[in-house]
Amino acid sequence: MPPKASKSKEAAPERPILGRFSSHLKIGIVGLPNVGKSILFNTLTKLSIPAENFPFCTIEPNEARINIPDKRFDWLCQLYKPKSEVAAYLEIHDIAGLVRGAHEGQGLGNNFLSHIRAVDGIFHVLRAFEDPEIIHVDDSVDPVRDLETISEELRLKDIEFVDRRLEDLEKSMKRSNDKQLKIEHELCEKVKAWLKDGKDVRLGDWKAADVEILNTFQLLTAKPVVYLVNMNERDYQRKKNKFLPKIHAWVQNHGGETIIPSAVFLEKNLVDMPEDEAAKYCEENKVQSAIPKIIKTGFAAINLIYFFTAGPDEVKCWQIRRQTKAPQAAGAIHSDFEKGFICAEVMKFEDLKELGSEAAVKAAGKYRQEGKTYVVQDGDIIFFKFNVSGGGKK
Ligand code: GDP
Repeated sequence: MPPKASKSKEAAPERPILGRFSSHLKIGIVGLPNVGKSILFNTLTKLSIPAENFPFCTIEPNEARINIPDKRFDWLCQLYKPKSEVAAYLEIHDIAGLVRGAHEGQGLGNNFLSHIRAVDGIFHVLRAFEDPEIIHVDDSVDPVRDLETISEELRLKDIEFVDRRLEDLEKSMKRSNDKQLKIEHELCEKVKAWLKDGKDVRLGDWKAADVEILNTFQLLTAKPVVYLVNMNERDYQRKKNKFLPKIHAWVQNHGGETIIPSAVFLEKNLVDMPEDEAAKYCEENKVQSAIPKIIKTGFAAINLIYFFTAGPDEVKCWQIRRQTKAPQAAGAIHSDFEKGFICAEVMKFEDLKELGSEAAVKAAGKYRQEGKTYVVQDGDIIFFKFNVSGGGKK
């Protein structure tokens, strides 16, 4: 019988995460026109997992699914030599360019903003390359101004949403004394003041109960952002770009999220080369593709993690949202696993790697049995035990 995990191993309850509760989360590419979004998206499409790997769902043309590079997964596949290998992936949506005034319907404004509402996080692409041939919608290259433009559009759209919600709530409050209406109204007033102050919702210190209400709104500025700075290859190679320090300073003052320097032209050229040629090019020019970092950072930014199931039949990554408890994680595999959940037998990847086999992990007393309240951690290797109504057991 595996040892029971001690109570102290169970993570303290964290504040609920802003955003949708789902394991099917996606990130959208956002930015002004002519910053390099399409080239980036086309490059990602070429790196996509083939559609036939998703037989039961349609993959839209504006959607790319890219495997998450992970040495742990590669190692597990080496160990088990399984018949089937299924890595985790990030789903990326191409959201066409946003312009100033979008919240009032400028350009294809409101359409774009509704596409942003449908994703769970944002890759914000910034233009930090100069080229007189490529026009900028606002005439000059100035990524900090562009950051202001886009973040303001998103905030204005959120204010519009909150205003509408306030109106609805006020109507309802005339008809009912429901305390919940008042609580929501107060929160909306707070959120509106916060936004009007030029601050994004995701940067607020909201209480758990507030987060639950906020999650019913899907506000645009509540979504996590990763900044992708598109520069020319020379700047990327020498890790210097005249706009980068200013972008860095701006981001530090606005939440300090991750900034990833990239050169989309380089990425495009690399995917168009045979693999060995691309590797040779990178070595000779002392550059590295930014795509693996972009994919991993995007996945973590939208609060996804994965656990492994591993054996000779299959090594598979199961994506779940951070903070998911064992029964719901089991439900990612099959709803019966969740309904009839008995326990999760968990190995830490590091233990398996160090000790070499499942038997050695068991012998070392590191194969643990976890119950319903266990919060699944990234990289756990799990075997679920469950009852089905017929009394079967896996
Ligand atoms: P989008 O409107 O943001 O989707 O931008 P695109 O990906 O269509 O790129 C807009 C234009 O900028 C295209 O003509 C690209 O060739 C050009 N472009 C993108 N990245 C770079 C770059 O790093 N340097 C230069 N000189 N041009 C670039």
